[in-house]
Amino acid sequence: MLAAFYVTYFVFASFSFNVAQQQQQPLQYVDGYRSSCKFHQAGTFNLIISAPHGGSLMPTDVPDRTQGGCRRSGSYCTWRYDDKCFDGQRCTATTVQDYLSGEFAENVAEELNSKHGLKPFVVIGKWSRKKVDFNREINEATLNHPEAISAYQSYHTNLQYAIDQVKQQYGNGLLIDIHGQGVGNFTMVGYLLDSDLLNRDDLQSTLGTITSIEQICSLSNRTECIRGQTSFGTILETNELGIAYPSMAHPKPGNGTFFEGGYITRNYILKINAIQTELPYDIRAGPYKRVNAMKYARALIDYMTVNTILLKNSKSTM
Ligand SMILES: [Zn+2]
Repeated sequence: MLAAFYVTYFVFASFSFNVAQQQQQPLQYVDGYRSSCKFHQAGTFNLIISAPHGGSLMPTDVPDRTQGGCRRSGSYCTWRYDDKCFDGQRCTATTVQDYLSGEFAENVAEELNSKHGLKPFVVIGKWSRKKVDFNREINEATLNHPEAISAYQSYHTNLQYAIDQVKQQYGNGLLIDIHGQGVGNFTMVGYLLDSDLLNRDDLQSTLGTITSIEQICSLSNRTECIRGQTSFGTILETNELGIAYPSMAHPKPGNGTFFEGGYITRNYILKINAIQTELPYDIRAGPYKRVNAMKYARALIDYMTVNTILLKNSKSTM
């Protein structure tokens, strides 16, 4: 009897120890096609973190995206790497890196894991945007180069897999796409509403445009979910992450450049809520970047909690 007790106790104790130990372990990443991206698919709650523009790897056999594509008439671009374009004009492809945005995303994921016992699904770009742009439609993204296409497919297949996992396990969730911008010292929160729409006094007049968080907005109303107390911008500000547009304190972005969300934010919203955040240099790369990642992780949990969309696997603890 006593032996049985000890065996039971030992099994229980070692199980508890294993759970505690598992929480301490950093997230394990798997490399995608030729290290074009890396991913973590063993998520334990319904959050997916994406960071497409932080990569710096420059595979030499893939041509730079600045060299290809041709516009011969109108607005149509061929987006072919092998188009010599003697009789047209080169198209402009954006190739600037969102410096340290991938590292910031990884730090946020690690904070969620180690401090909160919640493992997100994560996909992070490793190839430079000069070689592939994971946040554009496939032609502009890859210039139709076979290696760039494989890299692009690796990123999006993993994103799609993560979304399917979240749908299957939890029914719904949130995809957060992390970027960096050099426009100003504030964060732009993108829900697919451009600055003209956000600058309106009454957001009810924008209902003709679909947002990337329709499911969350259905819980309240458009003004509340975009710039109210429960909006992500307000919650970023509450967590001391500087100024965010749109938010309660800073509802309108004004006339400057505003990024309302790109291909990733737009492409998956029939399946999942999506938000793009464009973070300033100070937040993602300045001396307090680690503290900011901690605050950003907290903001994500606050946001999902207050909007009652946070769902976790029964196997995750805390
Ligand atoms: Zn970006």
